[in-house]
Amino acid sequence: MLTHPLVRATGLVRRFGLIRALDQLSLEVRVGELVLLLGANGAGKTTLLRALAGLVRPLRGRVQVCGRDVHAEPGARGAVGFLSHHAMVYDDLTPRENLRFHAALHRLDGAEREIEAALELVGLIDRADLPARGFSRGMLQRLALARTDLHRPPLLLLDEPFTGLDPVAADTLRQRIATWRTADRGIIAVTHDPAAIWTLATRVVVMQHGRIVHDQPRSGDLMDVRPTLDRWFVA
Ligand code: ATP
Repeated sequence: MLTHPLVRATGLVRRFGLIRALDQLSLEVRVGELVLLLGANGAGKTTLLRALAGLVRPLRGRVQVCGRDVHAEPGARGAVGFLSHHAMVYDDLTPRENLRFHAALHRLDGAEREIEAALELVGLIDRADLPARGFSRGMLQRLALARTDLHRPPLLLLDEPFTGLDPVAADTLRQRIATWRTADRGIIAVTHDPAAIWTLATRVVVMQHGRIVHDQPRSGDLMDVRPTLDRWFVA
């Protein structure tokens, strides 16, 4: 049983020129939480996810996942699965080869059965051995999804996870998110369509100008809460 938070980010600062993408931001997330991360375009959501994944180094502050510093400790990033809308798929490779590459990165030996199961789960088994070049956006998203969970990370960071998915694939993803939430894992999901996973969320966090301006347990109907949330969606 984890005694420390799954994620502990403290005092994160990241600037791009004069823009403060992260401005003294602190956040803790525990196992079993599904944090819906909302905010206007440019609020800093993707930068935060990238910092939590160890892909963006903050100018100041620290990120620990499962108690380990993702920017300082080799291997700490293995606890993170990051689904990004820049799908991070090698399109010269087939889906199977993409997943083998990912498995090798995470030192998963003998992952062939897991790869097969992952491709089956996202409905790509029929295209498993075709180059990903020419795949539709939704197919690339399915492949990215298979990759995100292949190494069974305790922390899942989902940046616009429903992008490009058809309604059936979106439903399947919702079911997977529900399963992840009840297992020993935590999820942060960025979306401009909160209705897609509102009832699964346990907590709602809103960012504005690199800061957290709202952090509450999720409760009630989105329709009722919407006016409160919408006031943060101003430039
Ligand atoms: P959106 O909802 O549009 O995806 P976001 O909340 O995810 O926005 P970020 O992508 O984190 O916002 O960007 C936060 C701010 O930092 C924006 O003003 C953006 O232009 C800026 N920014 C992010 N990455 C870079 C970069 N690599 N170079 C320059 N500016 C950047």
